[in-house]
Amino acid sequence: MKRSDFLKTLSLLPFAGYAAEASVLKKLNDAPSSDRTPLLFLGHGSPMNGINDNVYSNAWKELGQQLEAPKAIICVSAHWLTKGTFVTALEEQRTIHSFSNFPKELFDVQYNPKGNVPLAKETRDLIKTTQVGLSHDWGLDHGAWTVIRRLYPEANIPVIQLSVDYSKSAEHHYNLGKQLSALRKKGVLILSSGNIIHNLYTTTANGKPYDWALEAKEKFNQFIVDKNHKPLLKYQSLGEYANNAIPTPDHFFPLLYVLGLQEKDENVKIFNDDILSGSLSMTSLHIQK
Ligand code: ZN
Repeated sequence: MKRSDFLKTLSLLPFAGYAAEASVLKKLNDAPSSDRTPLLFLGHGSPMNGINDNVYSNAWKELGQQLEAPKAIICVSAHWLTKGTFVTALEEQRTIHSFSNFPKELFDVQYNPKGNVPLAKETRDLIKTTQVGLSHDWGLDHGAWTVIRRLYPEANIPVIQLSVDYSKSAEHHYNLGKQLSALRKKGVLILSSGNIIHNLYTTTANGKPYDWALEAKEKFNQFIVDKNHKPLLKYQSLGEYANNAIPTPDHFFPLLYVLGLQEKDENVKIFNDDILSGSLSMTSLHIQK
C-alpha cells in the first residue's frame, strides 16, 4: 500500500482506534525505511520521447503519478559510459543534449532538478567493489532527462547519475547494482534507462520486428519474469538472437543494475513491451513487492 493510501485508510478508522492509530503513526514515522522504493528500468527509445506524447511517454507519466514521490533519484543511463565509475556531485543538474539531427525544440528542453551531493558521497561510499569518483563535469544526459521529466515534470525531485564503466563485465554491473540496496530503504528511487534490444545497424523503415528480435524479447522477458538472471549475465553465449539484440552492451548494461537489486519477494511488471523500427525494444520494468 502506498503511504498516502495508508494514511487515508488510517483517517477512516473509528475514534476508538486513536491510541492504536497514534502508535501506528509513530511506528510509521520511525520506520519509513521498512518500505523499499520500487526499481525501474525504462526503455527510452528515441530522444523525441522526451517531448512527444505517445503511448510510451504517457506510460512514464502515469507511472510518475502512481508512485509515491521518492526523496531522490539515482539514474543509471546508457548514455554515460566511462572508464571507471563516477557519480554526479552537483548542487544543481544541467541538461546534456548529446545527439544530433533532431529538431531545435528538443535541444531547447531544459530539465534541471537539484542534484544531491550528500547522496553522491553516500553512493560512492556504499560501493565497495570498485572506486567511485565524484564528477562535476556531467549532468543529466538524454537517457536520464527524457524519461525523468515525464515521471516528474516539475523537476522537484533531486537526481544524481551513476556512470556505466564500459570496460567491465555484465556481472560487474549486476553486483554493483546490489550494493545500492540500502538506499531503497531511504526513499531513493533507482532508475535505469536503456533499451534491452538495441540494434541500430538493422533498423527498418517499415518497423516490422525481425524474427530474432521477437525471439529475444520473448526469451529475455521469460528470464526476467522467472528471476533467472544468470543467462542474461552470459548474454554473449545465448546464441544468434542475443548477439543480434545486443551487438554492443551500452543500452543493455543499465538493466542489470535493477535486476541485481531485485529482492526475492519482488515481482516484475513489464510494460511498453513493443519492438520499434524492427530492432529496438521499448520494454520497461517496474519491480516492486
Ligand atoms: Zn539511448
